[in-house]
Amino acid sequence: MSPIDPFLLRTRVAYFTMEIALRPEMHTYSGGLGVLAGDTARSCADLALPVVFVTLASREGYLRQQIDPDGGQIDDADPWELADWATPLDALVAVRIEGRPVWIRPWLYILTCPVDHSVPVLLLDTRLEHNALPDRAITDRLYGGDDAYRLKQEMVLGIGGERLLHALGFNIETYHLNEGHPALLAAALLRRYPHPTGWPYDGALRFDADRVREQCVFTTHTPVAAGHDRFAYDDTARLAGDFMEIGQLKLIAGQDRLNMTRLALNLSGYVNGVAIRHAETARQMFPGYSIRAVTNGVHVPTWTHPAFGRLFEVVAPDWGHDPEKLVVADQLADDDVWAAHAQAKRDLLAEVQRLTGIAMRPDLPVIAFARRMTGYKRPDLLFADLERLRAICRTRPFQLLMAGKAHPRDQGGKVLIHGIHHHMRQLQGEIPMAFLPNYDMALAKILVAGADIWLNTPLPPMEASGTSGMKAALNGVLNLSVLDGWWIEAWIEGVTGWAIGRDGDQDGNHARDLYAKLEGTVLPLYYTDRARWIWMMKETISKIGPRFNSQRMMRRYASEAYLR
Ligand SMILES: *Cc1c(COP(=O)(O)O)cnc(C)c1O
Repeated sequence: MSPIDPFLLRTRVAYFTMEIALRPEMHTYSGGLGVLAGDTARSCADLALPVVFVTLASREGYLRQQIDPDGGQIDDADPWELADWATPLDALVAVRIEGRPVWIRPWLYILTCPVDHSVPVLLLDTRLEHNALPDRAITDRLYGGDDAYRLKQEMVLGIGGERLLHALGFNIETYHLNEGHPALLAAALLRRYPHPTGWPYDGALRFDADRVREQCVFTTHTPVAAGHDRFAYDDTARLAGDFMEIGQLKLIAGQDRLNMTRLALNLSGYVNGVAIRHAETARQMFPGYSIRAVTNGVHVPTWTHPAFGRLFEVVAPDWGHDPEKLVVADQLADDDVWAAHAQAKRDLLAEVQRLTGIAMRPDLPVIAFARRMTGYKRPDLLFADLERLRAICRTRPFQLLMAGKAHPRDQGGKVLIHGIHHHMRQLQGEIPMAFLPNYDMALAKILVAGADIWLNTPLPPMEASGTSGMKAALNGVLNLSVLDGWWIEAWIEGVTGWAIGRDGDQDGNHARDLYAKLEGTVLPLYYTDRARWIWMMKETISKIGPRFNSQRMMRRYASEAYLR
């Protein structure tokens, strides 16, 4: 009996994702997309949804971030022990890449939720003696290497993953593509359905795309052009020429380049963006497709500090499984809420001290900014006018925490990290400030619980959803954010948090608006009306917790997309 057997008969849905944040020790994720996939899996387990997850083993991880004395990011691999967490399954499939067979073995990780349901996660691995040396490394480094390496990874994930599910004996009815990376999965399904009437004329698709559309669900995540994978067709012909004729691929994936988003859009019968605003943006980017919105959510028990969990247990038993129950969190006692927050903040400040040696004060507010370090997230917006920032801090002191990795090839992101360290030196002695290295799931958990203010300054409409602000809200941490992504749906000014600028200003004067809001509203409230601040914390928990959670998100995917 194989450990996968208990899952074979009942599983109906396969969720394909390049990255997934299962636990901090498993370095199979880089950031928001992977954390969303992990929260999806946790909710599928909670709700006993019949889903199998398919991803890459990523034995070398994504990026272990260290900062050199000058403030530069050092890009190291981030290896982890696959065998400590997963078991190899007795199955092998091959995909022909560059004319050679590349063998793939799945490893099984079983994710079990507190009420004892579980979902299987298959981690695809090419580190096998059967494979030529360079092919063994295909599944090693998440988002590593060049375009050719990425295309090979996407062939292993999409084509190899589809074959493995068959080989293992799964009977899948619906395939969910998390972002465009696994889009070759849809092409692999297509190959199983030759067109019933042959093909009417030269240059037509010889497959039955409607059969595939019935089975595929595609969630697009990024309004940034660079976020959509596009591969040159000469690379594609060299690497994937054995898989499908290029002429056929061009009919479904774009004439000039193999566009993974286009491929997924053309072969999916249900397509969605990850917030209402993002779906609107995606409809403009891809006219002619029906694109719905399923706003993201976070896994509530994963991101709630235990001190708040104990409070929720009293007023809303079973809140972790049914986060809707958090609607009564506005009835919590002020002192209890403030004490739980103080505990979460002590934990955070202890971690800051441990990581950086910097001692911050529990009685001063902490503003946190933790994001992937990249241009559109604008981590430098807060530093647009240092004199102004100093003046605000002299009147109403605050402390500042920052964290985030830059993709190793994102030079702009690295310049931003460098800039933050430069500002930290300029502000030394005036604004207490620290940069916490290696932002990951474990650090995120501490940060989203222990800060006072969660700052978010993307350039609209680039933030598809954002999820860290939802995690903060569960812990009564107040969002101060540009109106973009999920925040447009959750924001009630002065109740659930605050806006920076107005909806619709593109760049506008967000720096000016940010300073004005901090100086005129947020910090004065913290210092002069603690009761109102705590009231807002409770409003944030009770209005955001019940809606922006992954149980609600997965119930919607199940009813609207999977059981369509
Ligand atoms: C939640 C999370 C993210 C996503 O945060 P955004 O709000 O989308 O920027 C990224 N990285 C980690 C480690 C997280 O936990």
